Amino acid sequence: MASSPRGAASRRWFLKGLAASGAAALYAPRVRGQQPAHVVVVGGGFAGASCARTLKRLGPELAVTLIEPSLRFTACPFSNPVIAGLREMDAQQFGYDALRRDGVAVVSQAAVAVDAESRHVTIADGTVFSYQRLVMAPGIDLRFDATPGYDAVAAEAMPHAWKAGAQTLLLRRQLEAMDDGGVVVMSVPASPYRCPPGPYERASLIAHYLKTHKPRSKLIVLDAKDRFSKQGLFEAAWQSLYPGLLEWVSLSFGGQVTEVQPASMMLVTDFARHRADVANVIPPQRAGAIATAAGVADQTGWCPIDPVTFESRLQPGIHVIGDAAIAGAMPKSAFAADSQAKVCAAVIVDLLRDQVPSAQKLVNTCYSLVAPDYGISVAGVYHPRGGLLAEVEGAGGTSPADAGPAFRLQEARYAEAWFDTITTAVFG
Ligand code: FAD
Repeated sequence: MASSPRGAASRRWFLKGLAASGAAALYAPRVRGQQPAHVVVVGGGFAGASCARTLKRLGPELAVTLIEPSLRFTACPFSNPVIAGLREMDAQQFGYDALRRDGVAVVSQAAVAVDAESRHVTIADGTVFSYQRLVMAPGIDLRFDATPGYDAVAAEAMPHAWKAGAQTLLLRRQLEAMDDGGVVVMSVPASPYRCPPGPYERASLIAHYLKTHKPRSKLIVLDAKDRFSKQGLFEAAWQSLYPGLLEWVSLSFGGQVTEVQPASMMLVTDFARHRADVANVIPPQRAGAIATAAGVADQTGWCPIDPVTFESRLQPGIHVIGDAAIAGAMPKSAFAADSQAKVCAAVIVDLLRDQVPSAQKLVNTCYSLVAPDYGISVAGVYHPRGGLLAEVEGAGGTSPADAGPAFRLQEARYAEAWFDTITTAVFG
């Protein structure tokens, strides 16, 4: 395959080493005269794909390799409308041909090991890549050890749908199969987790589906928090759009799920037991497993970074971006991942050219759909301060509380336009 290290495009850059002796193959950039610096990116989601592409644009002299096992990326933003039957899955999927055209060597395998000291990455077939700089962007893994009763098998009965793909479609099919009058129960974790407003957008769109298709049904949202992103805007919308249909139970009122029993479709809290006809359990999360293997995740499961360079605080030469990173006040979003990717790429180009990178400001905007024609948003600007990425005070904000239907409709259209723009910029 053209994208594998054995492919023609990649052969220019990589030298097969020790395979004949039965040992792992060693690939390293080799050209006449001065060798180009080699940057390896692990993970081809919003953060990794954007970073690989930007590296090649800002530093055309670099050899850039993207390691990503999936042939096509499935985006989580706008996967909630898929669950609610408002959108199809193929609108969520993107390939890597544009990155190849930009000169990025795309290797369609998983990274399985990182040796930070000798600066090598090993992929599933045993091939080893050397690097001058490594970017880790593996996104999240679900913590199947966090909630008693909830593991990968339980997720087939009670889908999380927090990594878009088969789980998204499973939850949609379960909602479609449920009788009118059924009870849907969602479980939402404590922070930090991928996409702070995502569970509430999902609750809104499931409520919209029930209202329009199964109006005698009910949705209960069990939350391990008392406060959440864009709360005032969501709650006002729920009151006007879904009265009596959607019930949010906060931590203080017994919202934290302490155990699930998939065989009886039961979600257990300290206060009550909730039997569900359809259960969506969003478990706690951590950085993708390869981050731990590389030694860049700390005891929290997430990756501490320098807020100017995104270089790991635990392993020099490795930068961590996207959901996996501890990015201070910046939320774990695709918008933030793309912002971080661009800054990180510029930093790496500077470092490889022996220049000192300067501190940058980063931006995030998160749109949420409360109904197909009703959008709300929150925006923020962030800068390095006190060793973290802190919010620039007064620079962000949310949609106005008192906006009318035309404004909400416009924000829903902005949300769609944002998704088209970011996916075209990263994958198109
Ligand atoms: P990902 O996009 O998950 O990419 C990680 C990649 O790393 C994956 O392709 C994976 O295959 C790869 N990988 C993992 N391990 C390895 C390995 N060992 N070797 C090689 N590759 C590996 N964000 C927004 O900005 N706006 C929204 O409206 C929005 N809505 C959302 C709705 C939902 C329901 C959810 C769940 C999330 C939403 N998000 C939204 C959040 C957004 O999806 C994430 O923040 C974003 O995907 C993070 O990008 P990432 O590159 O860090 O991780």
